[in-house]
Amino acid sequence: MDTVTTLAAARERRAADRVAGKTVAFVPTMGSLHEGHLALVRRARELGDSVWVSIFVNPTQFGPGEDFERYPRDLARDAELLAGESVDVLFAPATGDMYPTPPRVTVGYSGLENVLCGASRPGHFAGVGLVVAKLFNIVEPQVAVFGQKDAQQALLIRRLVEDLSFDVRIEVAPIVREADGLAMSSRNAYLSPQERRAAGVLYRALEEAAEAIRNGERNPAEVERLLAGRIAGEPLADLDYASCVDREDLRRPAIIGRPVLLAVAARFGSTRLIDNLLIDPRGETT
Ligand code: AMP
Repeated sequence: MDTVTTLAAARERRAADRVAGKTVAFVPTMGSLHEGHLALVRRARELGDSVWVSIFVNPTQFGPGEDFERYPRDLARDAELLAGESVDVLFAPATGDMYPTPPRVTVGYSGLENVLCGASRPGHFAGVGLVVAKLFNIVEPQVAVFGQKDAQQALLIRRLVEDLSFDVRIEVAPIVREADGLAMSSRNAYLSPQERRAAGVLYRALEEAAEAIRNGERNPAEVERLLAGRIAGEPLADLDYASCVDREDLRRPAIIGRPVLLAVAARFGSTRLIDNLLIDPRGETT
C-alpha cells in the first residue's frame, strides 16, 4: 500500500494508475476505522482495479462545540487495517494541505441540507460537500463508495455529483451493525458501558417501526410517534429526531406509498448517534 499525504503526491500517484490503465474505486473516511468502513473497502475492491481510501477529519463539517478536537484518530492502526485489505493507496492529507486558505465557496442543496441531521448540525452538509468535491478533484475516482449509515449524506452526494457533473459513479453500501443491531460508528467508542447498552434502542425502534409498516401502517406521523416513543422509553437516550420521510426528497409524505427512510438521531450522554432503515411499503427492507 502506498501512503500519500500531500495533494501533489496524490496527483502523481493517480497519474501512475492512469498510465497503467487502472480504474480507481475510492472510499472517503474520517479514519478510526471499523468493520463498516472495511465493508466499503471490500465493495470498492470489487468495483475498481485500484482501491483508494482517504482518511481526513474534515474540520469544515464540524460545527462549533462539536467533537472535531476529540474525534478519535489512530493513523497507524488504520493503515494496518487497510494494508490487510490490500488497499492500493491511502491518502491522508494534512488540514493545511486541504485548506491552505479558509474556503470561500459553499455547497448548498436547495434546502435538503437543512432537514434531519442538517437541522441540528447547521453547515455540516456544506462542509461534507466541499470536502467530497475536493477529494473527487484530487483522486478522480471512477467509482466512490459511501455507507447507507449516513443516508442523508449519500443522497446529497448523489445530488452534488449530478449537478456538478462529476464523472464518478456513486455506490451506497448497506449498514454494518454490531450483534445487538447498533450501527457501527467511530463515535461508539465515546459511549460508557451503560450508554452502549442503551444505544441498542435505536435499531430496536427502527425495526418495530418497519414491522408496523409491513403490517400495513401507512400514516408516517404514526410511524414517527412509534419511533419517538420507543426511544423516549430509554432513560439514557435524548431524542434529536425520529422521522419517516420520502427517500428522495426527505419530506414526510401524506401517506406511505413509496419507499421511505426511517431515520433517527439521539444523544447518549454527549455522544450523538444516528441510524436508519429504508422501507419499501411493498415489502423490501434495507
Ligand atoms: P466516516 O469515517 O464516519 O466519515 O464514514 C466514512 C464512510 O463510511 C461513510 O460513507 C459512512 O457512511 C460509512 N460508514 C460509517 N459507518 C458505517 C456502517 N456502520 N456501515 C456502513 N457504512 C458505514
